[in-house]
Amino acid sequence: MAMIRQILKMIPGIEQANLMRHRRRLKRQLADNPDRLRFELDRLEQRYYLAYFMDMRCNYNCSYCIQSGVQRGGYTRTPPDEVIAYLLEHAQAKERCLGILGGEATVHPEFKRTVERLHQSFSITVTTNLGSKLYEDMDAFLEWAVAHPIEWHASFHAEFMDPNLFVSRVRRMQEAGLLCIPEGVDTAGVSEAQREILLGSGIGFHFQVYLGFDADGTLVPKEYPDPAFSYDRYVAMCGGNPRPCTCRTISRAHHARHLIAPDGNIYNCHQLLYRQLNPIGHIRSGWPKRLLDWQECNLLGDCNPCDMGDMEFREVPSPGAS
Ligand code: SF4
Ligand code: SF4
Repeated sequence: MAMIRQILKMIPGIEQANLMRHRRRLKRQLADNPDRLRFELDRLEQRYYLAYFMDMRCNYNCSYCIQSGVQRGGYTRTPPDEVIAYLLEHAQAKERCLGILGGEATVHPEFKRTVERLHQSFSITVTTNLGSKLYEDMDAFLEWAVAHPIEWHASFHAEFMDPNLFVSRVRRMQEAGLLCIPEGVDTAGVSEAQREILLGSGIGFHFQVYLGFDADGTLVPKEYPDPAFSYDRYVAMCGGNPRPCTCRTISRAHHARHLIAPDGNIYNCHQLLYRQLNPIGHIRSGWPKRLLDWQECNLLGDCNPCDMGDMEFREVPSPGAS
């Protein structure tokens, strides 16, 4: 029980009302599946995570999307079977936290099969907008999802999603015993009525802080509820005025973040993946040897906020940079 309490404490935004339900689900899951217990313990130890950007296409087209420059339909897609084989063969025990993302990953025709193949071997988190065809028949979806337990991060997007439909889908997932964390970016586009429905729903919804430029062109926020946050560093990375630097992934005991694009190229930075620049490897060439190397990049200032915590940079290219 102590471990279950620890796991639950690590989940942001979870409301007291949902704790009992999640605790029951975790107990059942851990008792039924010893492998799952190992993965949850891995998570407690902050193992490094892999991400598979399965499909850059999206059923929505949000005005604030940080991927707005991505060639969604034009992105070549490697068969997921190859990515699955790569992950199963190469990922070490410390690299078994896997994010499946997009675009909207669930629009990929092989999304379900990919989860089915990997959920016993990885601690999987899927980020989804809950608006794709996968959720049109909720009974069928729930029957499948309960048999393949993973973690769902459900993102609300105000321009396209009906908040009542969002709440009802999250609630059904939670009532079925799935771990579903509902959240949304707090943009000016969220109406008061939507806000009221979401925050009053009792599903544990929380808003994420918007990171980007406000209407006056100021990079916001200036403060962030994270002791590691530095506004100067945020401005250096995301404040515009792109310039050269050398940059690398922060190493955690020689394990580093590792992002797989739909075409099988491997990147260590979201922005480079979205722009298809400077891959550090490809799944057909094995685990990348250059994962932790410094590399030159001309985009410092135009970085993605998702990379702030995991990348370190030097403003002046170092002579030995590869
Ligand atoms: S749902 Fe997400 S990926 Fe799709 S357009 Fe909106 S912000 Fe972008
Ligand atoms: S885009 Fe930013 S975080 Fe990514 S490699 Fe370049 S400088 Fe580093």
